Amino acid sequence: MTDYQLKVRPWWLCCIPSGYWVTLRPTIYYPATVKDPTVYPNVIAHECVHIGQQNEGNFLWWLVRYVCVPSFRLRMEVAAYAAEADVCAKLGDANLASETVSQAAAALSSWKYCWAASSNNEAWAMIMAARRSL
Ligand SMILES: [Zn+2]
Repeated sequence: MTDYQLKVRPWWLCCIPSGYWVTLRPTIYYPATVKDPTVYPNVIAHECVHIGQQNEGNFLWWLVRYVCVPSFRLRMEVAAYAAEADVCAKLGDANLASETVSQAAAALSSWKYCWAASSNNEAWAMIMAARRSL
C-alpha cells in the first residue's frame, strides 16, 4: 500500500481548477467541497498511482514532464484512471467503473488535461488496455 496523507487543498494550488484533486507526494490534496475524502477510495487509488509514479525517479522532473509533455501526462493519467476504474469494479460498481473510463477519456482529450490525448477513442482504448493489464 502506498503511504499518503490527505489534506484539503491549500490556497497556493489556486492556479489549478478548484474541483481537482492534486497529488504532490506524499500528500493528496482534495477540494474543500469534499467533506470526507475517505469515502472516495477510487479517487484515492488514482492519486496513489501518481504517488508511485512520483516516487519512481526525480520528483521535480516528473512534474516538469507532466506539465510540459502531453504524451507523458497521458501515460500517467491512463494508469491512474485504470486503477480508479478497477477499484470501482472491485467494489461492485460496474456502472461507476464504466462511467469513470468514459469521463476520463473525454477529459483527457479536452482542455481539462490540455489535450493530452488526440481523441476520446484513443484515451478510452488506452485506459481499457491498461485495465486489462492490472
Ligand atoms: Zn491523475
